[in-house]
Amino acid sequence: MKIQNYINGEFVNPIQNHWIENYNPATGAVYGQIPNSTKEDVDKAYEAAARAFPKWSNTSLDERSKILSKIADLIIEKLNFLAAAESKDNGKPISLATQIDIPRAASNFQFFANAITQFSSEAHESVGLNAVNFTLRQPIGVVGCISPWNLPLYLFTWKIAPAIAAGNCVVAKPSEITPMTAFLLGEICTEAGLPNGVLNIVHGLGASTGQAIVAHPNIKAISFTGGTTTGAYIARVAAPMFKKLSLELGGKNPNIIFADCDYEKMLATTVRSSFANQGQICLCGSRILIEEKIYEKFKKDFIKKVSELKVGHPSEATTNIGALVSKEHLEKVKSYIDIAAQEGGKVLFGGERVTVKNFENGYYLQPTIIEVSDNKCRLNQEEIFGPVVTIMSFKNDKEALHLANDVQYGLSSTLWTNNLNRTMQFSKQLQTGIVWVNTWMLRDLRTPFGGQKDSGVGREGGFEALRFFTEAKNICIQYESPF
Ligand code: NAD
Repeated sequence: MKIQNYINGEFVNPIQNHWIENYNPATGAVYGQIPNSTKEDVDKAYEAAARAFPKWSNTSLDERSKILSKIADLIIEKLNFLAAAESKDNGKPISLATQIDIPRAASNFQFFANAITQFSSEAHESVGLNAVNFTLRQPIGVVGCISPWNLPLYLFTWKIAPAIAAGNCVVAKPSEITPMTAFLLGEICTEAGLPNGVLNIVHGLGASTGQAIVAHPNIKAISFTGGTTTGAYIARVAAPMFKKLSLELGGKNPNIIFADCDYEKMLATTVRSSFANQGQICLCGSRILIEEKIYEKFKKDFIKKVSELKVGHPSEATTNIGALVSKEHLEKVKSYIDIAAQEGGKVLFGGERVTVKNFENGYYLQPTIIEVSDNKCRLNQEEIFGPVVTIMSFKNDKEALHLANDVQYGLSSTLWTNNLNRTMQFSKQLQTGIVWVNTWMLRDLRTPFGGQKDSGVGREGGFEALRFFTEAKNICIQYESPF
């Protein structure tokens, strides 16, 4: 099957006719081709977006909102079809794609369909100066959205929905590793009546297609989610052109467990926060820190629970852990298990590839638990982004806080305790953009989402996203008194 670019409402081949192979991670086999778009394709997408902008930015909020809602409805209508496509393209269990990825993609559109009707700006009366100031929030123009492979349609739409709700036109690129649901979204947008050119989707490698979007002089804002190294590179390319940038990057998130927590809830959630989506979620709690007095008990119970997880073909309803996204990624994740051995880490469970009957070439790996003693080890400092977690103990609050913050990343953290004073102290002092207390990945789309330190710049979600995708202009009017 050949995936095509979606430009000006039409599906087209890449101008230079360059293609990349698309793999099914569950089987290791090629099952399609996608364009490796070049600068010419991105220019064409930009031109379509620029032509659509005057009309779209003047389309009433009511009309924009209706179209976004319609896209959400169509995503739900095609839920099973889209979930199957996502699972095949990414290797994630079908249950996860059906329950999380695709419903969330619909929610992204529905949320911003509503949010845009409630978005407002400030007015300031300059008392004593006979002046009034108000803020106009105008769409930027043509914006670029670039997304990663781990939550393909979920994160792609998380950017596109607020961008178009705010009146922008978009040139978007999904990951070349998981292009399928982005391709299917094009058809849905046409069916929902989104005018041609408002959303243009170009497929291809980061170094060619992605680079062309970031370097385009008239694409004035880039919303990017992906690795920290890529984010730093994009920032360097974009900075001389003074582009607006939103960077959602990697994480190495602590999961801090105190003895006074609700133990059973913590244990079940920790299994999920460690291994959901094969551990390939930027928010996974990959560093588990446990209070010394429950360390041995936790170790035993956690190993038992993890050993019950079923690694299997993503399309099977009983599969808990599917395939990793690519051969390269599997090798990268596996290399950390070797690094652990060199660093003195002890594999408590897993560490080996899994052979799934009839799918021997799929990219399967056991959920892996590694015990470490030094937070400075590479396993605790570098993002692995796979089904590998480390566990280590701490003695007291001070040590726990130090260990939690002692990394370059600062995306999210999870705290398990029933002590209110501790909750408040940690919430204030954890250097992460999100702190979950006694829960994990509970999302309310109105909240600011993003990371501190090397985990990114800017916040997505709610009005933060609408602020990012608009330019604030101050209008100051002075008046004379007629009497
Ligand atoms: P990646 O950085 O390799 O790629 C992300 C996207 O950027 C892809 O579409 C890719 O083609 C594109 N890209 C690559 N090089 C580019 C360049 N030079 N110019 C423009 N675009 C370029 O990341 P990935 O491997 O796809 O995703 C995994 C990473 O994403 C992990 O680090 C993970 O933590 C992070 N992530 C972060 C969040 C968050 O919200 N903070 C969410 C999900 C994933």
